Amino acid sequence: MHLGWELKLVIGGELIASQVCRNSEQVLTTSEQWKKAMIEKAWDVTGHHRTHPIRLWVSTHENGWEAWIAQMRDGTFTAWACLAGQNAVATYIEDSFEHGCAGALFDLGRLSGHQVCGANCTTWQEREH
Ligand SMILES: [Zn+2]
Repeated sequence: MHLGWELKLVIGGELIASQVCRNSEQVLTTSEQWKKAMIEKAWDVTGHHRTHPIRLWVSTHENGWEAWIAQMRDGTFTAWACLAGQNAVATYIEDSFEHGCAGALFDLGRLSGHQVCGANCTTWQEREH
């Protein structure tokens, strides 16, 4: 029986916040609140913050969502999924690109209901930033 989700905000390998959510609505609400809090704290404003990724990959999906993986300076990989064009909180921190893929695609299915990729989905492509 599925009871809910634990949403984690991880920045630069540091667990910033953790929240147990009972439904997907609560997951989205919590994500929004964290995003707002990060913007208020001027997170990522300079572009030279310590959490700035060194490499970034994106895969786009036919339901309008994107899955992202960021390689951080400490060698960890942060993975998340979001609607195209929106920023999202990082929900997974992994030790390899492969595990990052799994985390991001799991998030994609969990948050958007997208389970099987079709002809209009793309594989991972490195994004300049
Ligand atoms: Zn897909």
